Amino acid sequence: MQLMANISDILEDVRANTNGHENGNEVDSNYILIDIGANLTNKKFSRDVDAVVQRAKESGVQKIMVTGTNILVSKEALRLTRLFPDTLFSTAGIHPHDAKTFDETSEAEIESLLANPECVAVGECGLDFNRNFSPPETQLEVFEKQVALACRLRKPLFLHERDAHEEMMVVLKKYESSLPPSVLHCFTGNIAQAKAYLDLGLYIGITGYIWKDKTEDGVRKMLTDNVVPLDRLLVETDAPFMYPNTRSAKLPTDVKQVITQRSTTFLNRYCTFQRNEPCSLPCTVELIAALMGKQPEDVALATTYNALKLFGLSS
Ligand SMILES: [Zn+2]
Repeated sequence: MQLMANISDILEDVRANTNGHENGNEVDSNYILIDIGANLTNKKFSRDVDAVVQRAKESGVQKIMVTGTNILVSKEALRLTRLFPDTLFSTAGIHPHDAKTFDETSEAEIESLLANPECVAVGECGLDFNRNFSPPETQLEVFEKQVALACRLRKPLFLHERDAHEEMMVVLKKYESSLPPSVLHCFTGNIAQAKAYLDLGLYIGITGYIWKDKTEDGVRKMLTDNVVPLDRLLVETDAPFMYPNTRSAKLPTDVKQVITQRSTTFLNRYCTFQRNEPCSLPCTVELIAALMGKQPEDVALATTYNALKLFGLSS
């Protein structure tokens, strides 16, 4: 009931804003967005996280999920949520890079973090065979433990995968019958891989990475072909990473043209390649919408609804 009340409140706000837009009230109109992945515990934000959250809200990002990548970071992410109640939420888990830090206490630590209502997902966890900062066999073992935990607790997984699609599918398929609805975050794979994840019931998280994709059958083509239905799409910044370079020569002119002045102002004023911020999310949403041939308001509404539903974000 709480969730439905929360969703209807937000949808009410969205409608009020959309009407403003239709009336030509361009200045005041804003999206209502949820950034499902920002690394706000990163030391790049240690001096001014309150300003970062404040301007995210001004840009339209009403809720942000702070990513946990190991036990310490997951604890810090939960602590941050206490400073910004009902705005920040967190995840708890061990990133494949940190898999080698998993020890006999880790699972219990993750479980106790997840007992807090602000901590809404297991992760980020997964497999990264691109950089192999932890040995692949350790990654597989630690990933499977977290998948089993998510199934047992009925909590969504926040999944990370690089160059490990086949191996990830093997693990997820093994748990398919009890797998909770989950997200493959910062998807950078190809269309066939996206379809395989969608068939498993997963949501697909998209970041500002899309400007960079040059492949024939990658994320951009996936969006233009509408491979991911709106009811399975989520948006995220992965800040301070994945800066959306809307000025890139790689982007078609008609796509660039839809980026509004308002969104660009937040991007140019506060975000750089070195430090992306959640307030860049409106730009990314406009990019996604342009590629999908949809209105940015529709992408905003659908992804906000999906995030509220999947993660149960309510105070
Ligand atoms: Zn990741």
